[in-house]
Amino acid sequence: MTERLSPHEGIVRTAKRLILPNYDSAVRARESVRDNIAYLRDVYGLTVEMRGQTEEDEQSLAINKLKLIEAGDATRVLRKEISKYPPEFIEQCRVKAIRFVFSLKQGENVIDGVTYPDGTVYVVATPLVNNTIHHELFHASDYNQHSRMNPRLKDFGRVLEYRYWNLVNHNGYVGDKYEGCDSTGFATDYGRMNVYEDRATVAELLMTYPQVATIRAAEDPVLSDKIDRIKTIMRQRSGGRMNLRYFSDLTQGKVREGYWG
Ligand SMILES: [Zn+2]
Repeated sequence: MTERLSPHEGIVRTAKRLILPNYDSAVRARESVRDNIAYLRDVYGLTVEMRGQTEEDEQSLAINKLKLIEAGDATRVLRKEISKYPPEFIEQCRVKAIRFVFSLKQGENVIDGVTYPDGTVYVVATPLVNNTIHHELFHASDYNQHSRMNPRLKDFGRVLEYRYWNLVNHNGYVGDKYEGCDSTGFATDYGRMNVYEDRATVAELLMTYPQVATIRAAEDPVLSDKIDRIKTIMRQRSGGRMNLRYFSDLTQGKVREGYWG
């Protein structure tokens, strides 16, 4: 007698084949999330969360939670981008938590990320997530740099740094006056909004696309000066580890996980 599958068994098997790959990738996504979060905690002391809206979140924020499959990808990218920094720089940023979310609104505005002075960093898992990670980290670094100072020196330090930045920014515009200027000297148009965004967008360009930064710097002396200033700031805030040699390695694509030993 020839053994034959009953129609029912045939359907079950087909169904299993259809379901298995999805189930399998969900497992892989969960493993990836767990693995990446553990790595970032152990090597950098970072707390990464994928929670939805909580009562602790700023009232002006509307948060949509990330799905597991997206979280697998997002944490992999986060791990790759964070690995460009030595632990010393990440420590200086004093990040309370990185909150990965699917979408984010601040009031009526749809945004890609935001950083609060308490060190909570929100990052939306968009295709531009690499950029957002570096951008928001630099905001956190700037916030912390000045909040750690003696309160009486804090404002002085901040004023001095931003006054110096505006000297570097020798296009000579400030705040709203950026509106309508040509974008020479800026990493992106968004950087024209104010001094904080100017700095964060230059840091973002340098850390996400170091080769592009080098090419653009050769054609744009103001942007070149800003990139140099960001390199100096990063060297100072990383205890000297993000030095010229490092930025050369970064541009050549040599900086990846394991670079810092
Ligand atoms: Zn920003």
